[in-house]
Amino acid sequence: MQAADRAFARPAHRGWAALIAVVILAVLGTFAVLGVRPPAARPATAPAGEFSSARAFTHVEALAANGPHVAGSAANDTAREHIVSTLRGLGLDAQVQDTVSVQGHQLSASAGGIGLARVRNVVAVLPGTASTGRIFLVAHYDSAQTGPGGNDDAAGTSAILETVRALTSGPRPRNDVVLVLTDAEEACLCGAKAFVDQHPLARDGGVVLNLEARGSSGPAIMFETAADNAGLVGVYAGVPHPVGTSFAVEIYRLLPNNTDFTAFREVGFTGLNSAYIDGAAVYHTPLDTPSAMDQRSLQHHGESLLALTRELGGRDLPALRSDGDATYFPLLGTLVRYPGALNWPLAALALAVVLALAWLARRRGLITAPRQAVAFGLALVPLLAAPVLAQLFWALIKTIRPGYAELPIDPYRPWWYRMAALAVVALVTFTWYALLRRRLGPAALAIAGLAWLAVLGLVLAALAPGGSYLTALPALAGAATALAALLTPRRFAVGWVTLGAAVAVLVLAPTVVLFFPAMGMNLAAAATFLAVLLALAILPVVDLLHPEADGQRGLDTLRARRRGALPALAAGVAVLAFTATGLAVDRFDREHPEPTHLMYALDADTGQARWLSESPAPADWTTQYVSGKPAPVTDLLPAFGDEALLSGPAEAAALPAPLLTTTSDTIADGLRTVRVHLTPQRPSRLITMHVGSTATVTAATIGGREVATDQVAGGAWGFGFVFHAPPAEGIDVTLTVRTDEKLKLRVMDASDGLSGLPGFRPRPADVGIVGSHSSEMLAVAKTYEI
Ligand SMILES: [Zn+2]
Repeated sequence: MQAADRAFARPAHRGWAALIAVVILAVLGTFAVLGVRPPAARPATAPAGEFSSARAFTHVEALAANGPHVAGSAANDTAREHIVSTLRGLGLDAQVQDTVSVQGHQLSASAGGIGLARVRNVVAVLPGTASTGRIFLVAHYDSAQTGPGGNDDAAGTSAILETVRALTSGPRPRNDVVLVLTDAEEACLCGAKAFVDQHPLARDGGVVLNLEARGSSGPAIMFETAADNAGLVGVYAGVPHPVGTSFAVEIYRLLPNNTDFTAFREVGFTGLNSAYIDGAAVYHTPLDTPSAMDQRSLQHHGESLLALTRELGGRDLPALRSDGDATYFPLLGTLVRYPGALNWPLAALALAVVLALAWLARRRGLITAPRQAVAFGLALVPLLAAPVLAQLFWALIKTIRPGYAELPIDPYRPWWYRMAALAVVALVTFTWYALLRRRLGPAALAIAGLAWLAVLGLVLAALAPGGSYLTALPALAGAATALAALLTPRRFAVGWVTLGAAVAVLVLAPTVVLFFPAMGMNLAAAATFLAVLLALAILPVVDLLHPEADGQRGLDTLRARRRGALPALAAGVAVLAFTATGLAVDRFDREHPEPTHLMYALDADTGQARWLSESPAPADWTTQYVSGKPAPVTDLLPAFGDEALLSGPAEAAALPAPLLTTTSDTIADGLRTVRVHLTPQRPSRLITMHVGSTATVTAATIGGREVATDQVAGGAWGFGFVFHAPPAEGIDVTLTVRTDEKLKLRVMDASDGLSGLPGFRPRPADVGIVGSHSSEMLAVAKTYEI
């Protein structure tokens, strides 16, 4: 008998022990996952002091009633009027902040220029009885140009309107509550920027609660905070269904995404940012309708907002300021939290306990140093292979169904694919375990898994402290319970290792479930990496699924090996079954059309027009219009920067180019100052201008706002801007330039909707529209020389 073959738990009734342990983990896992689901929707008959998703939903329908309501459109005027009249109906003095604002961030919508917008924010104050500071409830009321914004962000706006109704139905809060319904978020976050830069109410800062929707369902996740969040997270932990993890804050900081919250956070506001993000296939598309919304998500948004506003409304706000970040995560419907200062000590303790376990296991003869070292090295295999294979799995699915490439995050019904990705993790881990278990021993493999978790706990404590708990706590619990299994009578051992695995399930399972929609199947590696960590943490329970390792060498090896291969075999069958079901269930049809990207550009200089598409894998429908390889269109449309597009010839439409007139032109100290007026000649969502790259722009004022001039489009074009929601009367632009030549100015305006164009054939019902900023764009460009 080889002692090194022994596991921590060797129950007398192995089959029963395995069954009970697995059932316990499955039940706990189910409750852990249910703990991060949104609450039930509430009817319109709910008491007046409560948040009712049914009441809020009437606002959702009103805001989305006129289809897409992009900043500057008539439909957006109607949406704004609904907000203003609702607030005035509640007795609030709602005002419209009408101004021009410069973006705070470079967005893909304006890759080749600085973004500006004419914005009209709705601002109202619910005055407090003895205010200690301001609470800002923020959501954007504009939609993308490609969809009615039934979720994004009618959800946030409506949740705020219903929250204010509930607040005004009872006693006034002590602190001022300021409502900021922003405009032009989709274009350039310009509404939020206009508020923080220009509005008197923003001067003293405060606590911002921003609401967003990047999909149509799922829990409202509190995914971003300002720095030093411990005090606010403490308040958030008191809402009815807190769903948030400090790991999300870390991940979000790494992503290029921004919301209105960014504009507030960057100028020193504190606060919390929440969004629901599942059902992302409808994001920014014509399918983002009120009927697509899971009203439980709206209820979750609003319930949390109302509870937070009530609680913060009664606090001494300056006293909430804290010196550090909290580490926090969801646990069975509650929020566990502790000071971030504990991340390092906990991670170090986890590693110390794992080392103590290894020492004891060696003394007891469960492991040998060489085998343990090999096991530690080979534990990298599932850690790396599972995410890589999950990613390859999705790449394979995309070759089977190329239309998935157009869905930026997830397909319409991602659940079967998520299950398949989890089955890939199980397949990799179980295969790895079955192959190595007899060579290296169950104890060595279990310790190797825990050691990696502990090491990652330290790495995360250094790089992304809010995520350290994810691996440090399971490592600590796994090692401590394994020690207990070795130090207490043998009959308790299964109980101990099940307890250790249970902690891992409770800590990791909700985050795995939240990370699938957060990163999407397009980044399946992210959630599957967390899943493989969970798999490694529960190896002592996985071991129970295999025949006992010791004492059987050479006796019944073949039979034992066959039985040992069963978990991996089951996982393999699950991969195939889930994949086949996913492909069968998630087909493109009328209700779930295959999204396509197409736009049209007319060059007024040459009278030539082109169809353009940013599709990575154009659908059959799109290939009627474009072909070949993607190439930059910088010279034609400088506002697109170096973005590569597919292209094809189009019939020229009778569309007027924007009109540029010179109002003054002076030279002083070798610098030429040109003042021009730029006027769209048709209703336009945006207007752009770029200066020929031979001229150096040293100063620029656009629509009354001075802007930085360091950003250039590339190719023949230098400094430029994208002005969203331009007024019909046009905008003034003043440029100071250094040049000896004539000044070349490339101007473009864009409207939306291709249906009136010559040569355009309407999409069949199962062909949809990609939710991108240039999707359905109709651009007309012209060069002026002055
Ligand atoms: Zn949004």
